[in-house]
Amino acid sequence: MSVICITGHKCSCSKDTHPSKRIVITGGPGAGKTAVLEIARKNFCEHISILPEAASILFGGGFPRGEGLPKKKASQRAIFHIQHELEQMVEDEKKSAITLCDRGTIDGLAYWPLTEELFWKEVGSTKEKELLRYDAVIHMRTPPAEQGYNFQNPVRVESAVQAALVDKKIEEAWKDHPHRYFVTSENDFLEKVLIAINLIKEHLPDCCKHHEIKELKK
Ligand SMILES: [Zn+2]
Ligand SMILES: [Zn+2]
Repeated sequence: MSVICITGHKCSCSKDTHPSKRIVITGGPGAGKTAVLEIARKNFCEHISILPEAASILFGGGFPRGEGLPKKKASQRAIFHIQHELEQMVEDEKKSAITLCDRGTIDGLAYWPLTEELFWKEVGSTKEKELLRYDAVIHMRTPPAEQGYNFQNPVRVESAVQAALVDKKIEEAWKDHPHRYFVTSENDFLEKVLIAINLIKEHLPDCCKHHEIKELKK
């Protein structure tokens, strides 16, 4: 997904505005994050906005990536600010009941090469402030290598071992969030995705709840 997606399904809800919630879908590579967002896009109503992943925008758009502190720091600062602006844009539109974020600002800590203190200093924020931005965090756990980790996303270069390490770092980064859900690796991938979709559904206002999840019918 390269553009902001407001799902196309006409809603029976007659409200123009909704109290807005932000939900982060996060997790290491290969955890099913993309599948969850795709199914949400196809099945939920027009009052859900799905943000593209800031890192994909940045690196897909040619921002230099690679080894070395200056590059790593610059890219994480840039990702942080892109994320902020994507979220702000949807908030200003006032239409969405839920903004689904493909990772949130705090994920940057998992990729930041120096101390956490320096991260907050360089992006000009604090963990406390960033935790307050999100109503819920759904962490899709990266499956062990034997359970089908793959390289579906071309801008991801992590190996299976690195993927597990990133997953662990993400867990650590969000540990103080009061509404965090872990969706663990089941053998049944569809089951895992359905758990996440239902968690999102619970956060929809009643006026927007009556959408059938057609994609997940067996
Ligand atoms: Zn509604
Ligand atoms: Zn709706």
